[in-house]
Amino acid sequence: MTSTGGIVIVGGGLAAARTAEQLRRSEYAGPVTIVSDEDHLPYDRPPLSKEVLRAEVDDVTLKPAEFYEENDITVRLGSGAQSLDTAAKTITLRDGSELGYDELIIATGLVPKRIPSFPDLAGIHVLRNLDEAVALRKEAGSARRAVVVGAGFIGCEVAASLRKLGAEVALVEPQPAPLASVLGEQIGELVARLHRAEGVDVRCGVGVAEVRGTDRVETVVLGDGSELAADIVVVGIGSRPGTDWLEGSGLELDNGVVCDGRGRSSAPHVWAIGDVASWRHTLGHQVRVEHWSNVADQARVLVPAMLGQEPPSAVSVPYFWSDQYDVKIQCLGEPEPGDTVHVVEDDGRKFLAYYERDGVVAGVVGGGMPGKVMKARGKIAAGAPIADVLG
Ligand SMILES: Cc1cc2nc3c(=O)[nH]c(=O)nc-3n(C[C@H](O)[C@H](O)[C@H](O)COP(=O)(O)OP(=O)(O)OC[C@H]3O[C@@H](n4cnc5c(N)ncnc54)[C@H](O)[C@@H]3O)c2cc1C
Repeated sequence: MTSTGGIVIVGGGLAAARTAEQLRRSEYAGPVTIVSDEDHLPYDRPPLSKEVLRAEVDDVTLKPAEFYEENDITVRLGSGAQSLDTAAKTITLRDGSELGYDELIIATGLVPKRIPSFPDLAGIHVLRNLDEAVALRKEAGSARRAVVVGAGFIGCEVAASLRKLGAEVALVEPQPAPLASVLGEQIGELVARLHRAEGVDVRCGVGVAEVRGTDRVETVVLGDGSELAADIVVVGIGSRPGTDWLEGSGLELDNGVVCDGRGRSSAPHVWAIGDVASWRHTLGHQVRVEHWSNVADQARVLVPAMLGQEPPSAVSVPYFWSDQYDVKIQCLGEPEPGDTVHVVEDDGRKFLAYYERDGVVAGVVGGGMPGKVMKARGKIAAGAPIADVLG
């Protein structure tokens, strides 16, 4: 057994990098080890469906190798964790070696869902990691017709990028509108309008019945019987937490690693952060957030909790963005599909909407309205009456 002790972070993405950085910033001087199953240093995922896919950017590394050397952070690449023994305080890697820890931070992100009934044909892609983005990009440049299955954020961004590369794109979504399960139908319709204006064939309220082809994908058959020719198919139907390796560990898992409001799991000395972690909300329910800004917000809370230091006093307002064509869709606060939506600006492409719940402003969503979205931060943080932003 290799006993490193110190703090071991399992996962090699944004959460791993941010947490290691925050540990050193908090003057933790003991050993820090990042264990990643990927062969790349931690990198940024948002560009994968945008600039990387459009071949505008290649290097998405978050920090260069020197950063880890200078900060004495050991990065073990190509080392997937296979199991966790919380009593012995060890993890076992896929190569059979063991690693001891004083504190363990789980940052294993998400695994993209696939459609099991799809045949195993060339040309069918998912997009979660850099290798998958590069594989998709290789085919996207010459694809004439693409079908994107699922109009969540990644599906919508992939559709926009493929369109920009010149492909005919169909976007298929069983919900009534793109992003409906996150932002509600009303804003989803505005997003559908944006894609239609760019020439995307948006098909909502219908799923995929069958995918046909010989060696490569050729046709996607929808539930209503219509057939779409396809050189490539991108499946963007969401992801599930990367917790398979924790089965049998005794750790409480329920839509991710169940944690308190500071990232402590159900086992002593085990913490979780980022897309894989379900943290207790201040209102008492569990929430798992799959957005970039949340990771740094959580690192600023988890690291002091682990080191016995004071947590930050300011509570951050949740934020995420999505780039589709020239429109940056931004969301501040915690809008829910069931909220009352007030669209206060709409020029046919760009828009601004406030979300009302129980009479207060729960969130704001803008398309191409960056300044106006950010201006609402104070009101959302204060739980201001909706009249304050509508008036
Ligand atoms: C294509 C794409 C576009 C996005 N665009 C946006 C955007 O525009 N705006 C926004 O707010 N958010 C966006 N996000 C979300 C954002 O990137 C994530 O919230 C963020 O990456 C979460 O970081 P994480 O470290 O928790 O997970 P990840 O970045 O997924 O990192 C998890 C890491 O753990 C590794 N791992 C998994 N299992 C093991 C194991 N058993 N052992 C060792 N290592 C393991 C994985 O390989 C991976 O390297 C996007 C995500 C994707 C995929």
